[in-house]
Amino acid sequence: MAARTVYLACKSCNFITEMNVCPRCAGETTREWQGQVAILDFEKSEIAKKMGITANGIYALKVR
Ligand SMILES: [Zn+2]
Repeated sequence: MAARTVYLACKSCNFITEMNVCPRCAGETTREWQGQVAILDFEKSEIAKKMGITANGIYALKVR
């Protein structure tokens, strides 16, 4: 039986990762997050602007 990957979200930048520490900003990650958004072109994305995202990737919409 394959273990299911647990995805974590960074508390600082909302970046979704499998690591315990955010590979992007070295912030703490948590399992307590909801929703996800793929930012493909952060320079043109209104969501990215609102969330202060400055790189493409997948982000959690809500991190506790
Ligand atoms: Zn981060």
